[in-house]
Amino acid sequence: MNPVIAIDGPSASGKSTVARRVAAQLGFVYVDTGAMYRAVTWRLLHEGIDPAKTAAVAAFSERMDFHAIIKGGTTRLECNGPIDPDALRSPDVSSAVALVARVPETRARLVAEQRSLRALAPLVMEGRDIGSVVFPNTPYKFYLDARPEVREARRHLQGEEDAINRRDNIDRSRAVAPLRVADDARVIDSSSLSIDEVVAAVCSALDTAGLQCRPTDSHAS
Ligand code: C5P
Repeated sequence: MNPVIAIDGPSASGKSTVARRVAAQLGFVYVDTGAMYRAVTWRLLHEGIDPAKTAAVAAFSERMDFHAIIKGGTTRLECNGPIDPDALRSPDVSSAVALVARVPETRARLVAEQRSLRALAPLVMEGRDIGSVVFPNTPYKFYLDARPEVREARRHLQGEEDAINRRDNIDRSRAVAPLRVADDARVIDSSSLSIDEVVAAVCSALDTAGLQCRPTDSHAS
């Protein structure tokens, strides 16, 4: 069975950058599950379905044709047709995605897709429920966090319009698979750490657990 590194945490906690770097250093495939929820949201908006209407989102999710295709170390998404990754971080998608992600039928479809990827390659998968729900038995679980004001400042620096507090509140309070720290996850507070320091902390824990990170050319230390 291929190993899976689970990296969870709230918005702008540094998950994506860290997960990408750790995946490159391990030679594993990086999977961004937030992009999957965003892809469904983008397609719903495109088809004129109101993301706040739970029954309509559930019905759409049950019949959607969704695929995550691993190719050349990255993942391409299809949801009733190809999805342009550049469209996924628009303000419209960011403000609606947490409404879509609370719908159990949507989660069931995407969690099944996420689990199926393990058969194809060793994975570094980032999200909100990877260690708690998607792969609860993986021994490699991390939860990245940072103080709310630090996370807000990071989003502003990235130039993205994204009400992360509202999104995190919906993610934490939903009935199915709420954002929470898995019991056996290693929690890393990145508020006063650089990305290099967080990557080093994750790699050091993985090393102790028997998985070796190798510095890549661009980030050799
Ligand atoms: O990671 P990102 O900020 O792109 O995630 C967008 C949204 O997708 C989150 O706010 C959350 O509502 C949802 N999500 C989720 N479970 C995951 C990944 C993302 O509910 N595993």
